[in-house]
Amino acid sequence: MNTCTRCASPFSVSEALCEDWKDPEKSFGCPRCGTFFIRNMTPTSWQSLVVSLVASLVGILVGVGIATPAITMLAAGVRADDPLVIVMSSIILASVVAIAAIAIAFTIHGSVSALKVSPYRREIGESEVARK
Ligand SMILES: [Zn+2]
Repeated sequence: MNTCTRCASPFSVSEALCEDWKDPEKSFGCPRCGTFFIRNMTPTSWQSLVVSLVASLVGILVGVGIATPAITMLAAGVRADDPLVIVMSSIILASVVAIAAIAIAFTIHGSVSALKVSPYRREIGESEVARK
């Protein structure tokens, strides 16, 4: 399912407008407002998808690698009733969560921007809009 960035109406690949399948600027349009999009599922974006997946995996491994000793440190700090150790391990845990959140936000942003607005736009008549 895709969501039109202009009128925010969802549409599936089978509902999408297609005026010329050979022209990437005219082969994927919103059926409601006639805005066309460029679906760049080209080899380059598949490569960047793989790169972002690998980056996420490395991020998770690094995150777990840092979070695990930080949790152990926090537990030891609580046991020993040492506020300095508790604060330090909390800061480490908070920064791991923040980095993970930023990484996820970038990954989501990257997949959303894969749908680019085409310079071509179909003019939809008044009657056609009124019917829907
Ligand atoms: Zn639309």
